[in-house]
Amino acid sequence: MSAPFDRTVTGEVDGTLGQDAAVSPQAGDEERVVESALRPHSLHDFIGQPKVARQLALVLEGAKRRGRPPDHVLLSGPPGLGKTSLALIIGSELGTSVKITSGPAIERSGDLAAMLSNLSPGDVLFIDEIHRIARPAEELLYMAMEDFRVDVVVGKGPGATAIPLEISPFTLVGATTRAGLLTGPLRDRFGFVGQMEFYEPGELQQVLRRSAALLGVELTEDGSAEIAGRSRGTPRIANRLLRRVRDYAEVEADGRVTRDVAQAALALYDVDVLGLDRLDRAVLEALVVRFGGGPVGVATLAVAVGEEPNTVEEVCEPFLVRAGLLARTPRGRVATEAAWRHLGQPLPQGGALLGGGTAAPTHPGPSSEPLFGA
Ligand code: ADP
Repeated sequence: MSAPFDRTVTGEVDGTLGQDAAVSPQAGDEERVVESALRPHSLHDFIGQPKVARQLALVLEGAKRRGRPPDHVLLSGPPGLGKTSLALIIGSELGTSVKITSGPAIERSGDLAAMLSNLSPGDVLFIDEIHRIARPAEELLYMAMEDFRVDVVVGKGPGATAIPLEISPFTLVGATTRAGLLTGPLRDRFGFVGQMEFYEPGELQQVLRRSAALLGVELTEDGSAEIAGRSRGTPRIANRLLRRVRDYAEVEADGRVTRDVAQAALALYDVDVLGLDRLDRAVLEALVVRFGGGPVGVATLAVAVGEEPNTVEEVCEPFLVRAGLLARTPRGRVATEAAWRHLGQPLPQGGALLGGGTAAPTHPGPSSEPLFGA
């Protein structure tokens, strides 16, 4: 089936998203380079996540006073909320270096053993997407985390012997978007687990102000409010929208990012006032207009928008559900009252709608206009 939209699911476990979409929470390779310039470098610079940040500050301070590496740290939460940034901050707060790898990159336990034995005392080892680590490597990690020791297997078959090898005390920082997929034994070996939350619009405005200053962009208060409202609670998306709006401001206006400029630019990029893009809106429109608000099965909904069911399920639905626009029920997908209102559709007469009366998305945009700020 051809995909008319630019967000598709390509990963097997957690749906790696296509990388062009303005509101994808994943970063492309080029974007990672830009991102590193915008990363906060200390806990003091790190905006939001008050609970995780305070707890982590205590863990790090305690470890520094004792002169020992802190407990292993697990950071869990959706992509783009600052897990990698926090891992790098842990290294800089401790004054140690951070070695970076990811679960899918560690295919053989030997790769991990080599990495662990190259660590210097106190180093931080950051493993992104740790739930995707291969099983034998995971088992090797247990002993490394607990006893700072790895067994190196020499030889094959019945003659194979395990030679224990001491490694330097280190701190493992694991990040995961799917904490539920972590095995019990691995999870239990983390002394500190931080659950990252989506950001409030005010916090995203702070992120945007900081990024604008670093990028040398003039950003007005209402301009940052407009972008923050469309950023789906995610700093990565906020920073990306800021860069796109900046381009527009430089080419089509005087370079200043005001509310009007942000509205016009984001309309051009098909990001509406709640941060929905074309595919999200197509799904919502099909549900409301073609299926009278549901209930309808996800496969039928997917055919209606010309997409694969898992793209609809893994890419669009999580945000639509979180924004209070769509509900997953045992009988199928149902539009809430907020969905009808957001699309500017007259509410159906008679039948009670889900979320009636109080329906308001979690991060309503600052503007009142219904569609794409138009
Ligand atoms: P994750 O590892 O959770 O996917 P990252 O740490 O890579 O997220 O963050 C993505 C981008 O968002 C980074 O470039 C960083 O600039 C920005 N960012 C994330 N969290 C914050 C924050 N709390 N304060 C400022 N910028 C942030």
